[in-house]
Amino acid sequence: MDGRLLAQAREEKENIRRQALRTDRQRHEEAYARVPELQKLDADIAALVPRAAAGIMNGKGSLDDLRARSLELQARRAELLTAHGWPMDFLDGAWDCPRCRDTGYVEGQMCDCLKALYEKARVRDLSALLTAENESFGDFDLSYYDDRPDPVSGVSPRAQMETVYGLCKDYARSFGRGHMDLLFRGGTGLGKTFLSACIAREVAKRDFSVVYETAVAAMEAYRGARGYDADEDAQDKVRRMECCDLLILDDLGTESVNSLSVSALYTLVNTRLTARKSTIISTNLTAEQMAARYPAPIVSRLEGEYQVLSFVGSDVRALKKARSLG
Ligand SMILES: [Zn+2]
Repeated sequence: MDGRLLAQAREEKENIRRQALRTDRQRHEEAYARVPELQKLDADIAALVPRAAAGIMNGKGSLDDLRARSLELQARRAELLTAHGWPMDFLDGAWDCPRCRDTGYVEGQMCDCLKALYEKARVRDLSALLTAENESFGDFDLSYYDDRPDPVSGVSPRAQMETVYGLCKDYARSFGRGHMDLLFRGGTGLGKTFLSACIAREVAKRDFSVVYETAVAAMEAYRGARGYDADEDAQDKVRRMECCDLLILDDLGTESVNSLSVSALYTLVNTRLTARKSTIISTNLTAEQMAARYPAPIVSRLEGEYQVLSFVGSDVRALKKARSLG
């Protein structure tokens, strides 16, 4: 589990618990003000066990007496509550989850309600980084890719993208069974971000930690995490980028290149390769542009260790727009 997201979920649960306590207090105030007998009854019920225990010790009472008296008081209480239009359990706690009384734990085990909040935090976290389109493999439309063979390669963009699509699907499905890095290469609007988002969602659904970052934001984090006045959030982000099960680094080549960003990129790529953590990098840069932009150690790692997937065709976003207009 991701500690940061778990902390978020627990904080949410704590707010729910506080709200439940507030509601419970208000209900008691309301009920006691309208029906003072209820307050007296509750006091009697609370005093019942200690008083009965003393009685039993003195030989002046029995457990049966206690049970009978308790049932009598409870019955009167239920009667009063329903007579005033309240449900019978109106004063028995306003818990959102009665099972754990909104603590998030039952006998040391995480309660389902907290697990659900954690799950929500994970989806929210990922959705904030992905686009709002809710990408899924089923929505990938190959018909946007030309099916005429490319004169040079002899392969049509559609056939090539069918292969890429299949590989991405397999990658998401078999994630966790081994370590593999992908480099998505190709122009704007060919589905790189879309397919990486599909993979991110699939993999995250299976409880792997996924971090999705643009290269610009990633380098920004490394910059912020340095030095004596290092920013804690940035340090946390760097840690997550380096340690998560799957890192998706989008749009490599859009960040500015300087000694700091180059060393950050090298650290990130290398740390993950060494730890055998899977990474997907997407870029608009051609192999030549990449070689011109980054030092040889980075290029050789990306070209040598990553499986390169070439995205080809015409800008799908532009085609989609044209289709929806036509
Ligand atoms: Zn619970």
